[in-house]
Amino acid sequence: MNKEYKYIIIGGGMAGANAAIEIQKNAPEGSLLIVTEEADKPYHRPPLTKELWTDPNYNEATIYYDFPNEEAIDFLTETTVTEINPKEKVIKTDQNATYQYDKLLYAIGGTPNWIEGPKSDRVLAIRHFDDYRKLRQYAPKGSNAIVVGGGWVGAELAAALQMNQVETTLVFPDEILNEKRLPLELAEKFEQSFIDADVSLINDAKADHYEATGDKVTLHLEDGQELTADVLILGIGIKPKLELAEAAGLEVGNGVIANEYLQSSDKDIYVAGDVLNYIDLIMGRKKFEHEEQAEKSGQTAGRNMTGAKEVYDHAAPLSYTDVLDISIEGVGDMSRNRDDALIEATDNGYIVYYLSNGKPSGILTYNTKVDLDQARQILANPPETTEELRGSLKPL
Ligand SMILES: Cc1cc2nc3c(=O)[nH]c(=O)nc-3n(C[C@H](O)[C@H](O)[C@H](O)COP(=O)(O)OP(=O)(O)OC[C@H]3O[C@@H](n4cnc5c(N)ncnc54)[C@H](O)[C@@H]3O)c2cc1C
Repeated sequence: MNKEYKYIIIGGGMAGANAAIEIQKNAPEGSLLIVTEEADKPYHRPPLTKELWTDPNYNEATIYYDFPNEEAIDFLTETTVTEINPKEKVIKTDQNATYQYDKLLYAIGGTPNWIEGPKSDRVLAIRHFDDYRKLRQYAPKGSNAIVVGGGWVGAELAAALQMNQVETTLVFPDEILNEKRLPLELAEKFEQSFIDADVSLINDAKADHYEATGDKVTLHLEDGQELTADVLILGIGIKPKLELAEAAGLEVGNGVIANEYLQSSDKDIYVAGDVLNYIDLIMGRKKFEHEEQAEKSGQTAGRNMTGAKEVYDHAAPLSYTDVLDISIEGVGDMSRNRDDALIEATDNGYIVYYLSNGKPSGILTYNTKVDLDQARQILANPPETTEELRGSLKPL
């Protein structure tokens, strides 16, 4: 046995960082270990596709988390946890070391989805700081890039690269960029901003496989088209990392199943972030892969690990994107019934109420700020009729 800790956090991501901060605030005397596969200590991930490309006030040093007492935390970087033994309360790493815990947090996020092709530094998914550094190296000014995936991460990155004088092509499966999340008229506006920013768009297209030869990458699309560039970025989603939890005998479904206190089926193992399947007090059982969820669930899990008995009540977490001249925020379910929506124009943008059986199931704002807690209240206690929804949120 290498060492015993009161608290061990597996995963040095956003959920893990937030849990560590709360543990240090509430139990400063408790020994704490964070194990992470990355070379970097925890940092904020969203700037990897946003501010680090667009805001001169950001640099590589500004995105790291501050901890109440960083010196008191033991970090094991570039280390993979390979086994959890809940019976012995021990974890094992790929360095063949074992560590004993009293309370454990499972916060290991997801693995990027991939397409077939050889391993190459010129083919990336922007998940980690190291991926960002590689992208900077292989996509200097004047080079060209292909981004696959029309979700927010892919779209943000395509815009960021183009703004940094990298000629960029964005390949996505929909007719109109972001049409799965936005009502048609807003998706058209969203897409137009990318056209105006000179991002080349290839719609209705699916990536099949790639080849990497010399200092070029060739992407083959399912329809036979070929595209060649200096770098290829895959923004096609992630698969939550559940195998460790499953092997440890924890209950796993769409994520690691947790109770209202964010405890897994083993009461000394807590869950947070992208891997968490939790009870959302508005939406029901959910898994949610976004920043605010990682932060809030990490905080609650951290406090509960130190002995609090807090119900995780941050319902309908925020998802957002800031890209080009567009700022979108949403709470609740925005994946369904996008054509069944009440859309209200504001001075600068829109408020969209997505409807399910006539009731709002999600609320999204486009270039408009509203009180998101009030939006959550509307989702929790929806009015009887759609007409009553009109004007219920006022732009701030
Ligand atoms: C580039 C980018 C931009 C984003 N932008 C936004 C945004 O604008 N808005 C938004 O709401 N969300 C955004 N997200 C999503 C948000 O960042 C994630 O939801 C959040 O990071 C999830 O936190 P997490 O701690 O669960 O996982 P992660 O932050 O992914 O951290 C998981 C950690 O676990 C480590 N790990 C994995 N397996 C092991 C193992 N076996 N042993 C040890 N360590 C392990 C990994 O190395 C990593 O450090 C973005 C994500 C990315 C990648």
